[in-house]
Amino acid sequence: MSDRLPHLSAKLQGFGTTIFGEMSALAVATNSVNLGQGFPDTDGPREVLDAAIAAINSGHNQYPPLIGMPTLRHAIVEHQLRFYGMEFDPDTEVLVTAGASEALASTLIGLLDTGDEVIMFEPSYDMYQACAAMAGATVRPVTLHPPSYAAEIDELRQAVSARTKLILLNTPHNPTGKVFSREEMQAIADVAIEHDLIVVTDEVYEHLIFDGLEHIPMATLPGMRERTLTISSGGKTFNTTGWKVGWVIGPAALVAAARTAKQYLTYVSSGPFQPAIAAGLRLPDSFFAEIALDLQHKRDRLCAGLVEAGFDVFHPHGTYFVTVDIRPLRSDGDGYAFCRDLPHRCGVVAIPNEVFYTDARRGRHLVRFAFSKRFEVLDEAVSRLKGINA
Ligand code: PMP
Ligand code: GLN
Repeated sequence: MSDRLPHLSAKLQGFGTTIFGEMSALAVATNSVNLGQGFPDTDGPREVLDAAIAAINSGHNQYPPLIGMPTLRHAIVEHQLRFYGMEFDPDTEVLVTAGASEALASTLIGLLDTGDEVIMFEPSYDMYQACAAMAGATVRPVTLHPPSYAAEIDELRQAVSARTKLILLNTPHNPTGKVFSREEMQAIADVAIEHDLIVVTDEVYEHLIFDGLEHIPMATLPGMRERTLTISSGGKTFNTTGWKVGWVIGPAALVAAARTAKQYLTYVSSGPFQPAIAAGLRLPDSFFAEIALDLQHKRDRLCAGLVEAGFDVFHPHGTYFVTVDIRPLRSDGDGYAFCRDLPHRCGVVAIPNEVFYTDARRGRHLVRFAFSKRFEVLDEAVSRLKGINA
C-alpha cells in the first residue's frame, strides 16, 4: 500500500503504483535480471504469431464484435470441451475481454454492489483487491499459509456473512504456484452451494501445471456450472502477455452482467489478436503438454538455484512463480526492503509477497521469483543471488 495521493478517489487510496510497475522500472534502471513481473522472454508458437500477422494483413483492424470474434468464441468453447468435457454456447456463454484483467474488472464491477462482500484466498493477485475496491465491495480474506498453503475450509466458512456475494478463486495460484486439490475445490464448492454464492475462478495458468497434476476447473464440479464464471487468457499459454486477449465463460445470465460492465470499460479490444489466439487454442494436445514440461524444467532449475543460494523455497506445482522465505538471508524478514535492495546488491529483481495480502505483515518475509525465463537467464540470476552471501 502506498502513500496518500491528493486527487485520488477515496476508494482507490492505497493502490498507488502497482508493484509490477515499480519493480520493472527498477529492473530497467539497474540493468537487472527481471524475475519480478511474470512474463516469458521467448516468443510463443510461430503459427500463433503468423495468424496475427495474417489477420492484420487481411484487414481485421477495426472494432471486433462486443462479445468477441466468432472464431475465437468457437475456439474457446472447443477448448473447454476438449480439455474439460464441458459444453458452452459460444453466442451467450462466452465473452472475450482485454486480457483476464478486464475479465476480472468487468465481472466484479458487473456483479457487485457497494457493501457486498467478496471472499478471496490470500495471498492473491494484486488486481483482485483493487477491482473489489472499484466495485465498492469489501474483501474478506482467507489466508493460505506456507509451507503447504492448504485452504482452511473452516476459516472459509467463518468468512461467509449475509453480505457475501461471491468467492474469487485462483488455481493454479499466483503468487504461490499452489494447485488447489480436488478435495479443496469440492469443499469450496460445498460452501458456495450451501450459501448460494457465485464463484469467479481465475484459471489463467490452467495449462502451466507440473508434476502430473491435473487442472480442475471449478465449473466441472457437481452443481457448480450454473454458479461459476471462469476466467482465462491467451497471454500465459501462448507467451503473448502483451496481446491482452482474455475471456469469461459461464451461464448466460452471469456473463450478461460482466458484458454490461465491459461495454463501458474498453468496449472491445485486440482485434487481429483474437483470431491468432483462436489458432493457438486449436493447437494439438502435444503443444499444451510441451509448454508445461518446458516450464517444469525451468521451475526445477530456478528452485534448485534458490535453495543453493540459501532461501527456504516453497515448491510450486504450477504458474510462472516460486515463493521463498528470505529470513535465512535477511534476519529482519523485511521482504520489501530486500526486493528494493536486491537490484543494487546483485542485479536481480523479485516481488515482495506482502503486496498480495490485505495485511502486509502476513507476507512480510516472503518473496516471489518468476521462472518463465530462458535457462541462461535463470542461471545468471542464480549465480548473482549466490553472490550476495559471498
Ligand atoms: N490473473 C492472474 C492470476 C494473473 O497472474 C494475471 C497476470 N498476468 C492476470 C490475471 C492478468 O492476465 P492478463 O494479462 O491476461 O490480463
Ligand atoms: N500476472 C503477472 C504477474 O503477476 C503480471 C502482472 C502485471 O504486470 N500486472 O507478475
